[in-house]
Amino acid sequence: MSDTKAIFTGDRCLSCTSCMANCPVMAAIKDYRGPKLVGPAHGRMHFSQEDIETSLEFCSNCKSCDRACPSGVAVSTLNMLRRADYYKTHPHTQVEDMIAHGERMANLIRKIPFGATFSNVGMSFGKALGIFNKLGLAGERNMPAYATTAFKDKFNHIKQTATGKKIVMFTGCFVNDNEPQVGEAFIKVMNANGYEVLIDKGFNCCGSPLVVTGYLDEARQHADNNVARILDWKKKGIPVVTPCTSCSLMLKEEYHELFGEDKFHEAAQNVYDAFEFLEILQERGEFNENLKPLNQKCLYHVPCHLKSQAIGLPAVDILEEAGVKVQTADAGCCGISGNYGFRKDKYEISMKIGAKLFERVKQKDFDKVISDCGTCRMQIHHGTDIKPCHPIEILALAYA
Ligand code: SF4
Ligand code: SF4
Repeated sequence: MSDTKAIFTGDRCLSCTSCMANCPVMAAIKDYRGPKLVGPAHGRMHFSQEDIETSLEFCSNCKSCDRACPSGVAVSTLNMLRRADYYKTHPHTQVEDMIAHGERMANLIRKIPFGATFSNVGMSFGKALGIFNKLGLAGERNMPAYATTAFKDKFNHIKQTATGKKIVMFTGCFVNDNEPQVGEAFIKVMNANGYEVLIDKGFNCCGSPLVVTGYLDEARQHADNNVARILDWKKKGIPVVTPCTSCSLMLKEEYHELFGEDKFHEAAQNVYDAFEFLEILQERGEFNENLKPLNQKCLYHVPCHLKSQAIGLPAVDILEEAGVKVQTADAGCCGISGNYGFRKDKYEISMKIGAKLFERVKQKDFDKVISDCGTCRMQIHHGTDIKPCHPIEILALAYA
């Protein structure tokens, strides 16, 4: 069993408090006792199932603490493991069940004729009538609208030239159900670089919403299924590439931190974030540099879950090849952290954390805001009325 499993990292804690100094939730509210106490300290020293640090509920799993830790303690994952312990003896609420199971809901909606349209109308009424608020969701927010046609249904109608070089796209739920245009841009870019894109309809949601909401057993089922499929593709020599930074982090790192078997490490070697993959092509001299100059200026909000992958900022290097001037926003976490900011009781914390980023975006000294994470894009849109896009949508324009 691997020593990267989170429970083996807690004893490395030096009590330096670097994680606390870098936790955006601690900076936003007084009630949170912080990563050092909630993660390594409490993870090692609890004495019974009932001995729960209640302020654990405030952790958003943004992973800023992990990046700040000089000892390699997987603080955020220790928090998520303790959260799952909590739910062994405490029932989930209705809203927790709902926000953890977005994939289940989307699958249901896709089976109903015009289901996406009816759901979008229903969500608008739900918001206007204050129903979301009563359920425990943040009534201030729009729920993400379903695309009329899911990306996986559009996929079969997208013409690609069969080549000897193939990748499998792990679409992620948000791209599949809400922003299929990101998937179409992904295909255009990969085709331009000589790769035929396949999809595997047997993949589940990566499990991130389940982990953060304490459904660890279900997340494990998703991990086992996804990893078995990734390993099958690996045997065929076909890499798995995703345009979602939270999915890539889960597939590459969080599975083995949570569950600790060697198969999770092995599968991780066959998974790439989209721009990481393109940068590898660039390093090998295989990147298609036949790009139309775009002469755009983009403000880049780097998602926390991309920073946690320690792969640098490959989108910046690649977009600059297309004549795009990219400036990073350098304004910290956006605050939404997946489903965290959708909860009524976390909305204000989420908006307080995002305030610095919103101010930066409102300066409007750019043509477009870009970010690789779907929920970061939603948060920026909500906090500024400026709609960001995925950096691969910009790159796709250069291959027109
Ligand atoms: S994951 Fe984020 S919110 Fe949770 S303890 Fe770490 S820094 Fe704080
Ligand atoms: S940063 Fe790491 S070593 Fe320092 S207190 Fe936090 S968990 Fe412990």
